[in-house]
Amino acid sequence: MSYVDEVIESVVAKNPSEPEFHQAVKEVLESLRPVIEEKEEVYRREALLERIVNPERQFKFRVPWVDDKGQVHVNTGYRVQFNGAIGPYKGGLRFHPSVNLGIIKFLGFEQVFKNSLTGLPIGGGKGGSDFDPKGKSDREIMAFCQSFMTELCKYIGADTDVPAGDIGVGGREIGYLFGQYKRIRGVYEGVLTGKGLTYGGSLARTEATGYGLLYLTEELLKLNGIELAGKTCAVSGSGNVAIYAIQKAHQLGAKAVTCSDSTGWVYDPEGIDVEALKEIKEVKRARLTEYKKYRPNSEYHEGRGVWSVKVDVALPCATQNELLLDDAKQLAANGCIAVCEGANMPTTLEATEYLQQNNVIFAPGKAANAGGVATSALEMSQNSERLSWTFEEVDAKLQQIMVNITHNMNDAAKRYGQEGNYVMGANVAGFEKVVNAMMAQGIV
Ligand code: NDP
Repeated sequence: MSYVDEVIESVVAKNPSEPEFHQAVKEVLESLRPVIEEKEEVYRREALLERIVNPERQFKFRVPWVDDKGQVHVNTGYRVQFNGAIGPYKGGLRFHPSVNLGIIKFLGFEQVFKNSLTGLPIGGGKGGSDFDPKGKSDREIMAFCQSFMTELCKYIGADTDVPAGDIGVGGREIGYLFGQYKRIRGVYEGVLTGKGLTYGGSLARTEATGYGLLYLTEELLKLNGIELAGKTCAVSGSGNVAIYAIQKAHQLGAKAVTCSDSTGWVYDPEGIDVEALKEIKEVKRARLTEYKKYRPNSEYHEGRGVWSVKVDVALPCATQNELLLDDAKQLAANGCIAVCEGANMPTTLEATEYLQQNNVIFAPGKAANAGGVATSALEMSQNSERLSWTFEEVDAKLQQIMVNITHNMNDAAKRYGQEGNYVMGANVAGFEKVVNAMMAQGIV
């Protein structure tokens, strides 16, 4: 049996109830097959793949907190420090009832290669909790965040592990987490990114993942001789990534006509109104049913459906496994030219294969949504030098990073004779740097 197959089999056997983690490992190792087979003997002797698929360490802890009525609740907290070969662990915290160790491991594993792709010195990690922030008061969110950080603060630090936001963790949660870290540890340091602008945050961090997605999409289309301006896009999600993806799409001359949340989706043929969406989601924290009040000509539909709209470009920005094989078929049949992932692993493996086989340009999340973590690393740099850069400075750096990622993944795919296979290109480009650093640092 080949080394790749052996390792995939052992990951499945040793982590039986973690399907998302299996999926991520399969996607990466399968696409790296030619690279690994070239050096199979050395990698096998060094147990390199076994080390790559095993987190350096993982923490699982109890998070007790008290609600507004005095009732005590207990959630589970996680932090997985996956690979620190090229820098301090870096990766978001997700608060969502679906969170379990397998999901955090899949995200942490992806993060290792994504962070490497940015060209910045950051290792990969991820964390979170099965806590559901929906319907909680600010006081309850604060109580949870404080309890979560009371334990997490033992394992993180500005030079060891620097978490950020993810699903369910935005500016409000980062503020409460930072306050508690500072109170317990007694140090004012850049231990979290995505901070508010008054206490060490970076301009353009909020916008970075969505903006970065569009910078990469524009460059990738350009490499394929296509202009983004004038194209119609379907976006899923209505959170941080989706909102700023829609905004940047409009700024670049494209038109985003959909958005969604976990209960339904909106079609606005004139283009999604970003200000209305921000008010609904960031201020009122309400459902998308509200959108029609702002834009009477739009349609609201219950359930899933954004991928049924005829568009040129699809930008999944909600969550994992939200673009299925049937969606891929429908997009391709409708003439969609590109799918670029704003979320982490939103496209299933079968859907990805179908898109690639049907000549739809496909950019994987680890490249396409790397703008968030890249700008987080820029926030770390600003914290270290105790300076703040202007919005334009950060945005220009972000744009350059996304352009570099696009070319690096394109070149890496070409080197292995698989031009246009950006899944492979992104994995190879991310993998090579991590592996070189691991080999240089010995058996650790
Ligand atoms: P938010 O919490 O701000 O928004 C998430 C959006 O996705 C919401 O509209 C939410 O709807 C929807 N959603 C979440 N879970 C589900 C589900 N199970 N089914 C349907 N819809 C769902 O998160 P972000 O925008 O920050 O993150 C979105 C994705 O992007 C995630 O995959 C995340 O890992 C990834 N990402 C985020 C980065 C960042 O900087 N924020 C960086 C890189 C990747 P509802 O409000 O109804 O729950």
